[in-house]
Amino acid sequence: MSQYVHMFSEGDRDQKDLLGGKGANLAEMVKLGLPVPPGFTITTEACRAYLTEGRVPPEVRVEVTQRLRDVEDLIGRTLGDSEEPLLLSVRSGAKFSMPGMMETVLNVGLNDDTVQSLASFAGDERFAWDSYRRLIQMFGKTVLDIDSERFSDVLDTHKQEAGVEADVDLTADHLKAVVAEFKQIVLDETGNPFPQTPRRQVDMAIEAVFRSWNTERAQLYRRRERIADDLGTAVNVQAMVFGNLGDTSGTGVCFTRDPSSGHSGVYGDYLPNAQGEDVVAGIRNTLALTDLEDRDPAAYRELRTAMRRLETHYRDLCDIEFTIERGKLWMLQTRVGKRTAGAAFRIATQLVDEALITMDEALERVTGEQLGQLLFPQFDREAERTLIATGMGASPGAAVGAVAFDNASAEAKQAEGSSVILVRRETSPEDLPGMIAAAGILTARGGKTSHAAVVARGMGKCAVVGAEDLVVDVAAKEIRVGEHVVREGDTLAIDGKTGEVFLGDVHVVDSPVMTYISQGVEAAVTIADDDETRELIEAVDRVLQHADARRRLRVRANADTGEDAKRARDRGAEGIGLCRTEHQFLGDRRQQIERVVLAEADEEREAALAELLPAQVEDFVDLLTAMDGLPTTIRLIDPPLHEFLPDLTDLTVEVALADERGESGPEVERTRALRDAVRAIHESNPMLGLRGVRLGLKIPGLFGLQIRAIAEAVVRLREEGKDPQPEIMVPLIGSNRELVIVRRQAEEIIAEVAEANNQSIEIPIGCMIELPRAALTANRIAQTADFFSFGTNDLTQTTWGFSRDDVETAFFPKYLENGVLTISPFETLDAIGVGELVRIGVEKGRSTKADLKTGVCGEHGGDPESIHFFHDAGLDYVSCSPFRVPVARLEAGRAVV
Ligand code: ADP
Ligand code: MG
Ligand code: MG
Repeated sequence: MSQYVHMFSEGDRDQKDLLGGKGANLAEMVKLGLPVPPGFTITTEACRAYLTEGRVPPEVRVEVTQRLRDVEDLIGRTLGDSEEPLLLSVRSGAKFSMPGMMETVLNVGLNDDTVQSLASFAGDERFAWDSYRRLIQMFGKTVLDIDSERFSDVLDTHKQEAGVEADVDLTADHLKAVVAEFKQIVLDETGNPFPQTPRRQVDMAIEAVFRSWNTERAQLYRRRERIADDLGTAVNVQAMVFGNLGDTSGTGVCFTRDPSSGHSGVYGDYLPNAQGEDVVAGIRNTLALTDLEDRDPAAYRELRTAMRRLETHYRDLCDIEFTIERGKLWMLQTRVGKRTAGAAFRIATQLVDEALITMDEALERVTGEQLGQLLFPQFDREAERTLIATGMGASPGAAVGAVAFDNASAEAKQAEGSSVILVRRETSPEDLPGMIAAAGILTARGGKTSHAAVVARGMGKCAVVGAEDLVVDVAAKEIRVGEHVVREGDTLAIDGKTGEVFLGDVHVVDSPVMTYISQGVEAAVTIADDDETRELIEAVDRVLQHADARRRLRVRANADTGEDAKRARDRGAEGIGLCRTEHQFLGDRRQQIERVVLAEADEEREAALAELLPAQVEDFVDLLTAMDGLPTTIRLIDPPLHEFLPDLTDLTVEVALADERGESGPEVERTRALRDAVRAIHESNPMLGLRGVRLGLKIPGLFGLQIRAIAEAVVRLREEGKDPQPEIMVPLIGSNRELVIVRRQAEEIIAEVAEANNQSIEIPIGCMIELPRAALTANRIAQTADFFSFGTNDLTQTTWGFSRDDVETAFFPKYLENGVLTISPFETLDAIGVGELVRIGVEKGRSTKADLKTGVCGEHGGDPESIHFFHDAGLDYVSCSPFRVPVARLEAGRAVV
C-alpha cells in the first residue's frame, strides 16, 4: 500500500511531483534544520485518487490520524485539547503554484471551547477571538463556498460602530460579537452550524483543497499555462504559530535579493501583530524588513542567517514567508522566487561571480522568452499619450507611424521614408506587402493566432489585433472610434504588449539590450544611462556568449533582401536559411510575369523572362554581398501563381464593363486574354495546387531564370573579390523525380554560366521537406538533394490537413477551449505528429547520405520549445526571423546544457 501522508521531515525538494512545491520546500527547510512548525503533507497521489474515485481514500484518514499524533507529540499540544489545544493550518500546494485553487485555512481546531483555552494559555483573550473569527471567515469562504463579502461586511459594521479603522483595534468583546454573527452566517448559508469538531474541520478542509483542483478558474489557468490536468494538488497540514500575539509577534515576507535588479540585500515587508495574508492584503502599512532589526535584533539576525542558508542551498534567489511568535522565528514557506526578465540575466551572472553556480547553470536560469522581452522597443514611459482603444497585444513592441489602409499606400509611405501603421479589419496573405512595409499592424478583428498576429510575430513586428472598438472603414479610408476619426496619414502609436492604441506620436526607444545585440557591448554600455542597464547588458552578453560556445545548432535567419540579411548578420545569424524570392516578382515586375503567363510561344516567354534577369541578378548580388562568406539558402519561387496575377473577379468585371460600353482595342483584348489565362489556372484550393516545384516544372524558364541569376551573381561577386555561398532550394518537393528534373536543369545552367566566365561554380542544390510524402521518402530524395530544409509551416498544414489562413477563426478557439490543442501548432511544433515526420525525414535522409545537411526554416525556428526539439532531432541549424536570432542562439545553447 502506498503511503499517502508524509511528515515534513521525510521529504525533500526534489519531490515536487508528489508533495507539491510548497510541501517539498517545507521538507527541504526541515532537512536544513531551519525552524519550521511541524506538519505533514498529503500527497498529490491522494488527490488523484480522490479525483478518480470521487471520495478521499479511507487510508488517508487513517494516516492523517497517525501523523497528527506525531505532530502533537512533537509540539506537546493536542487537537481539541481543553488546556493547550493544537491549532493547524491546512494549505494547498500543487507542483506549480496556481491561482484559482483553494488557498489556506488557518487556526483549524478552534471551536467554542478551545477558543477559551487558547485565550487562557496564551494569556490573551483578544488574540484567541481574533483567531477564531479568522477561522470561520476563511473556512466559510474556501471550504463552505460562502461569499466572502458577507463576512467582511460584518467586520466593517463593527469597526464603524466601534469608531476604529483597523481590525487590530477591535477588542475581545467586539470580536466575540463578530464570531457570533459569523456563525449565524454559516448556519444561514449552509443550513448547518459551523463544525465544532476539530478533526472534522481538518477533514473538510483537506477535501476542499482536493476539490478546488477542478474549479473553473483553476482549469482555465492550467489550460492557459499548459499545465497538465491530472497532476493534482498536495495538502500541507501544519501546526500554527502566531504572529498575532502582540507587539513582539508579527509576520512577513522577504527576498534574498532584489527580484527586479538582482542586487543582494535585505528586501521584504514585516507587519507586527498580524497573521497570514495581512501583509500582502494591504490592510495596514507594513514596515520595511530593516525596521525589524531595531525592534527585535535577535530574531532579525536569525532570519538573515536563514536567508543566507537558503540562498546558498538553493543557489538562487529565494522568496520566504515567516512569522515571529513572541520573539521566536518560524519559517513558513520558501521557493525560488519569480523575477523580471532583466533580473533573470543579472542574477544568473551574479551567482556565477559569487561562485554559487557555473556558466552552464546560468544558461539554464534564463529563457529565450525573457531575452525576447528585453529586445522589444519600448514606449518612453514618461511621454504623454491619448489612449483611444485597447485590443490584444499579439506581437510585442512599440510602433508609431502614419496610418495606411492598403498595400499601395503603405508601400508609398514607406518609400517616402515614413513609418507606417497598417490598419485593416483583419489581414490576409494579400496584405503581405503592406505588412512588410509597415512598422506595426493594427486590426479590429481576430485573435492571437489570426493571420495578422502570426505573420507579425514571425516578422518580429509589433501588432495589436482585435481592437473591436475601432470601426475600420477601408473604403472611406478612416477609422472611427468614439468621438475620434482617424484618417489615412494620421499618426497612431500601438503597444504590441499591452494592446493599447494611442492617438498621435508617442516616443519610442530601442531597448538597451537591442542596442547591444546590433551594436555590441561597448557601444551599448556607452549609451546606457545607469549602472543597472550597464550590468544588464554585460550579463546578457556573458550568457549569450556562453550559449554560442555551447550550442551545436547553427542559427541562420530568414531574410529576403540585402537589408534584412545585414540586420540578421548583425544579430549573429550564421547564414540565411530561407530567402523567399517571391517579392522579386511583385511591384513593377508583375507585368513581366503577366507576359510570361500569357505567352503563347516559347520565344515570347523567354523574352519576357530575359527582361527580368538583370533585376534578379541585382537582388542576389545585394543579398550575397550582405552574407559574404556565409551560406545563403535561396528558395526558388514558391507561392501559387495566381498571387502574382490580377484577381479573376476584377478582371471579369473589367471585361464585362468594357463589353457593355462597347469598348474595344488592344487594351481590352489584353485584359480579355489575361482573364482567360487567369481563369484557366484558377484553382479552388491553391495551397495544394500549382505552386512550388509544380510551378517550376509547368512553366519552364521560371526556375531557370532564377538559377541563372544566382550563378551570374556569383560571377559578379567573385570579380569583386567576394566569397558568395548560395544554396539553391526547391520548394514543395513530393517526389525525388521532381528534384531530379530541376537539378538537371540547374546543373546545365550553372555549367553554362561557369563556362562562359571561365570559372568553376558549384552551388549546393537541396529541397524543402514540407509534404509528408517528402519526409516518408526522404531516403530517395536524399539521393538527389545536397541538403534538406524542413518547412514546418507547410508541413504542419499538410500533416494536419488544415489551412493556416483559415483555422484561426474557423475552429482553433474551440480546439483550444476543449483541449484538442493546447497551443497553436503553428507557434510551437507539434512534436508528436509533425515532429515525427521531421525525425523520419532526418533519419531516412541520413541513411542515404550520412553527411546530409539538415535545417529548419519557418516560424518554429525561433520558438524556444521547438528549438529544443530540433536539437534533439539532430538538425544542423535552425533558421528564424532576424529578430529572433538572439533568442534562437540562446535556446540552442540551453538545449545542450
Ligand atoms: P499561499 O500559497 O497563498 O502563499 P500559504 O499556504 O503560504 O498560502 O499560506 C498563506 C499564509 O498563511 C502564510 O504566508 C502564513 O502567513 C500563513 N500561514 C500558513 N501556515 C501557517 C502556520 N502554520 N502558522 C502560521 N501562519 C501560517
Ligand atoms: Mg505562501
Ligand atoms: Mg512552404
